[in-house]
Amino acid sequence: MAITLDIARDHPNAATLIGTKNAADDAGPVVEKPPLIGLTRDALAEVLAGIGVPQRQLRMRVAQLWHWLYVRGVSDFGAMTNIAKDLRQTLDDHFTVARPEIVSEQVSVDGTRKWLFRFPPRGAGRPVEVETVYIPEEGRGTLCVSSQVGCTLTCTFCHTGTQKLVRNLTAEEILSQVLMARDRLGDFPDAETPQGAAVPSEGRLVSNIVMMGMGEPLYNFEHVKTALLIASDGDGLSLSKRRITLSTSGIVPEIARTGAEIGCMLAISLHAVRDDLRDVLVPINKKWNIEALLDACRAYPGLSNAKRITFEYVMLKGVNDSDAAAKELVRLLRGIPAKINLIPFNPWPGSEYECSDWERIEAFADIVNRAGYASPIRTPRGRDIFAACGQLKSASERMRKKDRLAAAPEAAQ
Ligand code: SAH
Ligand code: SF4
Repeated sequence: MAITLDIARDHPNAATLIGTKNAADDAGPVVEKPPLIGLTRDALAEVLAGIGVPQRQLRMRVAQLWHWLYVRGVSDFGAMTNIAKDLRQTLDDHFTVARPEIVSEQVSVDGTRKWLFRFPPRGAGRPVEVETVYIPEEGRGTLCVSSQVGCTLTCTFCHTGTQKLVRNLTAEEILSQVLMARDRLGDFPDAETPQGAAVPSEGRLVSNIVMMGMGEPLYNFEHVKTALLIASDGDGLSLSKRRITLSTSGIVPEIARTGAEIGCMLAISLHAVRDDLRDVLVPINKKWNIEALLDACRAYPGLSNAKRITFEYVMLKGVNDSDAAAKELVRLLRGIPAKINLIPFNPWPGSEYECSDWERIEAFADIVNRAGYASPIRTPRGRDIFAACGQLKSASERMRKKDRLAAAPEAAQ
């Protein structure tokens, strides 16, 4: 059932919600074919060999599929016109390249879009619902991608932190968020363009990706790595690694691997300059404290003035926003090529904190700026549709452990 709803009455800022679907509409379990999206080239070759594609054809077939999936963005084997019809049929019999279902699509007054996608159970448990946010900016656009449904961590200012971890997302589910956004925004090159394989590097609507949606990406390392390496593959989606930022609350042992194995930009959710306060705001600090975290940052592979770490700092009224905190922040980050991103706190139903006053945020930013750091204040986007940082939370419920294990083995932590 697809309906169009105008929810302007409930949201005076006139957001619109289109194509919504009732989660309860869906019937029971469906046997799902395994996805091809999210497989590395080697894994793709292996599954193709498994359905009888001759060894000598594997490289070519992988290249063809890669092009259709990630350059042209097709979601149907039937559209892969340079692959023989009978092979397309065999592929369709065994695999899927289908997109998730769009449960809802909301557009904020400021142009921000939020989607709620529903992914099939993939052989175990129930479907899961995931939120993805698109933030259009002058000359670029950033997609905020989720890595987990819920989160195991419980940062006290974050709405996602109130939702228990349902499960890790697979590489397919992480990449599908990017593919869906490009579908919905009309951001795939026209199939009829004479260039064919050309991947426009400029002027794309989804030009940047931030792993800042639901979940802690470094607690889902392998799937996030696979997805980001596919997203940055030059023969596919072709997003530069400089335009991909992974944000972590501070899972110290995985930070070096992020630089070495993924090579993307890093953002750290710092939020406090003293361990006693960070223990409360970002409780993973009790395991890896500020000193351990900053040591890992200093050692981040590839770190340089041209490739700085972004430190995120949520502005909480009367909690972490004093001049003294700003000075301590500057002192702590000395010697680390860094940018500081001040995030006005985005409230959510039941949150205990308030956002710092604007003058306070500016005074804090001044101290940081005077010390030589760029410290942009992140403009809250999409608050009217609950799409701003830390406001995401889906209604998916926690699965039983055995189902979570079957769906995504790493999620059992
Ligand atoms: N789990 C990862 C990435 C997702 S959160 C992390 O914690 O870094 C993305 C960013 O939004 C983080 O910096 C997080 O601290 C911040 N955030 C969470 N809740 C927020 C809120 N209510 N208002 C503003 N920022 C918030
Ligand atoms: Fe999880 Fe990040 Fe939210 Fe903390 S801020 S609860 S790590 S999503």
